[in-house]
Amino acid sequence: MHKNNCRVCGYELAYPPWGDDGEDPSWEICPCCGTEFGYEDCTPVSAKRKREQWIAAGCPWFDRKKKSLDWDLKRQCEHIPEVFK
Ligand SMILES: [Zn+2]
Repeated sequence: MHKNNCRVCGYELAYPPWGDDGEDPSWEICPCCGTEFGYEDCTPVSAKRKREQWIAAGCPWFDRKKKSLDWDLKRQCEHIPEVFK
């Protein structure tokens, strides 16, 4: 469940950010929250801290072109993998 979603913001990616087994980070950058997979999201605590900082900063998108017009933070956060919520 939610293997292709960012652990920090829930953004749905075209690939699993931590690989098929969830143990092999891709080191890519989330286009939404700017998290580097394998860095800020390596533990539930660090993912939560990054999320809080990102939300406090007003949820800036790393790649603004990918932001849809009807984007909704709450709706996207529902897709955060359960253990990282
Ligand atoms: Zn993200």
